[in-house]
Amino acid sequence: MSFLQMLRKIDRTRWYVCHTCLGNTSHNAERSIFYTEAAPVNVLGRRVMPCPRCNDTNTRSFQQMKEEGSEAALWGLERIVKKNRGASSRFAP
Ligand SMILES: [Zn+2]
Repeated sequence: MSFLQMLRKIDRTRWYVCHTCLGNTSHNAERSIFYTEAAPVNVLGRRVMPCPRCNDTNTRSFQQMKEEGSEAALWGLERIVKKNRGASSRFAP
């Protein structure tokens, strides 16, 4: 996915929030979300994405949040992504 495409639309399957980082940063979402194009890893039969910051797999993609009906939380996170457009690399591992 090109940088321009990333600017145009938030790819919910590529953006993740890490719950361990949320806990470690007193729920600082800006420091708990990340963008990755890596393939998920298989842990005990579950496909998970390790967090580039803490290496924990306690992460959820924006897509998962949407499917789970966490619309309010998702809206807040997507606002952060949009606010930081152009500085997306800060979310990269
Ligand atoms: Zn983390």
